[in-house]
Amino acid sequence: MCGIVGYIGYRDAYPILIDGLKRLEYRGYDSAGVALMNGQLELFKKKGKVADLEAHVGSRPHPVRIGMGHTRWATHGEPNDINAHPHVSASGTFALIHNGIIENYAVLRQRLQNHGYSFQSDTDTEVLVQLIDFFYQEGQVTAEEAVRMALSEVVGAYGIIVMCQDEPDQLIVARKSSPIVIGLAEGEYIVASDATPIVAYTKDVIYLNDGEMAILTTEEYTIKTIENVIQQPLLQRIELELEELEKGGYDHFMLKEIMEQPRSIAESLRGRINPETGQVVLGGLVDVQEELRAANRIIFVACGTSWHAGLLAEYLFEEFARVPVEVEYASEFRYRNPIIQKGDVVIAISQSGETADTLAAVEMAKERGALVLGVVNGVGSSIARATHAGVYIHAGPEIGVASTKAFTSQVTVLTLMAGYIGQLKGTLVPGMAEAIAALQAVPDKVAQILDSNALLMDVSARFKSATNFLYLGRGYHFPVALEGALKLKEISYIHAEGYPAAEMKHGPIALIDENMPVVFIATRDESYEKIVSNLQEVVTREGRVIAIVSEGDTTIPELADYVIEVPQTHPAIMPLLTVIPLQLLSYHIAVMRDCNVDQPRNLAKSVTVE
Ligand code: GLU
Repeated sequence: MCGIVGYIGYRDAYPILIDGLKRLEYRGYDSAGVALMNGQLELFKKKGKVADLEAHVGSRPHPVRIGMGHTRWATHGEPNDINAHPHVSASGTFALIHNGIIENYAVLRQRLQNHGYSFQSDTDTEVLVQLIDFFYQEGQVTAEEAVRMALSEVVGAYGIIVMCQDEPDQLIVARKSSPIVIGLAEGEYIVASDATPIVAYTKDVIYLNDGEMAILTTEEYTIKTIENVIQQPLLQRIELELEELEKGGYDHFMLKEIMEQPRSIAESLRGRINPETGQVVLGGLVDVQEELRAANRIIFVACGTSWHAGLLAEYLFEEFARVPVEVEYASEFRYRNPIIQKGDVVIAISQSGETADTLAAVEMAKERGALVLGVVNGVGSSIARATHAGVYIHAGPEIGVASTKAFTSQVTVLTLMAGYIGQLKGTLVPGMAEAIAALQAVPDKVAQILDSNALLMDVSARFKSATNFLYLGRGYHFPVALEGALKLKEISYIHAEGYPAAEMKHGPIALIDENMPVVFIATRDESYEKIVSNLQEVVTREGRVIAIVSEGDTTIPELADYVIEVPQTHPAIMPLLTVIPLQLLSYHIAVMRDCNVDQPRNLAKSVTVE
């Protein structure tokens, strides 16, 4: 994770870097730092948020034209001032910021210590800056060559920016597995982990590929491989407006993103259902139709909330595409020796498109001959580029660390994909046409559910001090239960578990007493009667019940402490509605507990380290 930003041009770099770091803060917020080229390398770093760094730096009298900044999500070394980036080599010649992990840092550190290098921090990153320094001093080479030599020894992942005291008019940038975007404007360049710090200055960008580096001066930029082969970069234009990156009057990005869902789901659907025929149209999959029709098995790989979307997709694809499905945690899949056979299709789901484990799973599946598709929000992201084909979810930038609108857009797109494959196979699955048609009404129904915000605030006030929560659902609502529990855990730090409702009696029922809130997702579908029985079992043991039910339900309100209604729809589409109150519940509880909703402790949004 970590956010990195660099500037070289004619404006004062410092405010641009600070502004950029604030936009990247969702990636990590343990500490922040900047290095500025002011004749000498000037360094400021501070534990805490970017605002703490700003306070530490205070007012700066002189503008500088070159600099770089970092907001950290610590992997090696606790979050403190010393471990904050930038790191500077012992000689003071080089400063470096890094996103990623140097896996062989211990060996390299020992080697450098044998050469008399001493270390200040506990980070893996400091090893890299010292190694660059070592090659520079030993080899009488340029800074760029020293960086290249050091990178050839490094095992792991990195997105780095390097500044050299002796060659002050340039930024040296390189990437392997961690994202880097370079914004190109007249007389200035901005480098960052994503496009958000760039968009205020230019929309023309280059996405650096793995194994590439960039040398930026005020006059020109050069892209080459780390082996020094000049590359012809692909210039792209980003479709991102500054307003999309602002809170737009809401207290938190998370609330804004929850409220945006009628629009973001509509965007995910836009142009993808033929209004005349009701057929699904997915332009991104046209070139792989034959392989999809012939698919023997589909394997979803994902992490976190995206994995929950994948689990839901298992139900959807088995129902509508009638193809066997497996759902894998990318981090497990990539380190197993999975059997990939002819006819297997791997679908990677990732909001950012940069999730390190998912990206590695994509590469592995490709090597083993699978067709690999992406379901991604980040346009131009690493996974979008690494996959053979895919479907963007078009949810717009998601900045709150707890994913909300990306989840509903992922599920929307996965439902469309299930229908699309069903169509290709020509199997007339009962209910499929109705489910696809029902998708069209989801944005309005979500808007209707968002109106129950006040009720959810009441429920939240009642349970804000709970120490545990149980979320139960069956069928399509089991993944929703997992997602509801995850949302609560990540932002309010209340322990929560999601479970298939019928499994409760095989263990979790032992936890139930009058202090245990149990959230049931119990809308009207074929397992309604069964889940009502499960709910009874909880009530009998004095558990406190919050139930998400279908509009007009008269049975559950007799049993539950709180009831939140959602409009009726096709059962396969229902998760898009039932997850909304769970998002609001976790949001309000977190706010009432004074938690930092958009930047929960220990987390970061885009998990670009293993
Ligand atoms: N490994 C580096 C550190 O701990 C960078 C971490 C990251 O990119 O998440 O400082």
